Amino acid sequence: MSYPISNSAANGLVDSFGRKHTNLRLSVTDRCNIRCFYCMPAENVVFRPRAELLTFEEIVRFVRVAAQLGINKLRLTGGEPLVRNDLHLLVRQLVGVPGIDDVALTTNGILLADQAKDLHAAGLHRLNISLDSLTEETFQRISRRPGLQKVLDGIFAAKHTGFQKIRLNAIAIRGLTENEIVPLAEFAREHDLELRFIEFMPLDADGNWTDEEVLTGQQIRQTLEAEFCSLEPIERSDASQPAVDFRFADGVGRIGFINPVSQPFCDDCNRIRLTAEGQIRNCLFSTTEWDAREVMRRGGNDSKLKLLLHDCVAAKKQAHGIGEADFEKPARAMYQIGG
Ligand code: SAM
Ligand code: SF4
Repeated sequence: MSYPISNSAANGLVDSFGRKHTNLRLSVTDRCNIRCFYCMPAENVVFRPRAELLTFEEIVRFVRVAAQLGINKLRLTGGEPLVRNDLHLLVRQLVGVPGIDDVALTTNGILLADQAKDLHAAGLHRLNISLDSLTEETFQRISRRPGLQKVLDGIFAAKHTGFQKIRLNAIAIRGLTENEIVPLAEFAREHDLELRFIEFMPLDADGNWTDEEVLTGQQIRQTLEAEFCSLEPIERSDASQPAVDFRFADGVGRIGFINPVSQPFCDDCNRIRLTAEGQIRNCLFSTTEWDAREVMRRGGNDSKLKLLLHDCVAAKKQAHGIGEADFEKPARAMYQIGG
């Protein structure tokens, strides 16, 4: 499929709604060491054969080309990125790509205690660690595997190693995690960590999502204000960041809300994605993909990759459309895309 190229390479990756894309989410694997119900099937997951995954060399090449089109921020994700062997070696190469000035990682934290030092030494300075619950029972209801203590060990290891920017991401599920809101906020305030609550999106592998399970940012905010103190809005320094951030009026800590369902932020989206096997996507909810691996493995030159990136961005829809009559759930679940 080919779409008109909306701009020259010099203008970067601008879509037909004028959104400039500078942010790339890179999935490095579809494998994971737990099985969160909002992301993966419980059992019998069929992972991509390893030969289908992009090699580090292919990822770095893709990033070098994307950076020439204005991509300057990367986030490594998955699946669980820390199950990919020697991830720190990839990080080291990515931080050295001309034009890339920010490399971050999203992890479930289970393997972080073992890898924090190497990742930090490789040049990674920003970490998002997913933590939905502080009780092992609820942790296991969500992730269908044990592991809370390992995640906590990972968080403290990262702090100890010297990571300055550690953020906790908590998915909020109505009927399941209401009792986690206050303890998570207390934990974040006590340990000087930023906490962001994320609304549950229809990207679960089992296809069980309903809007009734979405615990909105607004509802969580009310709970927090009733328990602690008022939350004061923090002005956005970057319009494209998905979170709305607040500081606690008592001066202890800050909190953010990512509300893709109740308050979509598509108008300011600057993100594209590369799946672990090299498909470019212009949205989490995209139903079309552009095959960068095919181009690279068939000997295509960098101009071909640039054309592919332009085609992908030019075809981006205005909004994800969750909740609208013609919304189409993508065939892939979150772990197969990279959140
Ligand atoms: N395994 C890593 C982790 O869990 O942090 C990285 C990949 S995970 C897919 C990235 C983020 O997506 C996590 O914070 C996870 O909680 C979030 N996520 C997964 N499924 C989601 C869904 N259906 N709705 C909203 N967020 C989701
Ligand atoms: Fe694994 Fe992350 Fe998906 Fe949970 S959200 S199953 S940790 S990839």
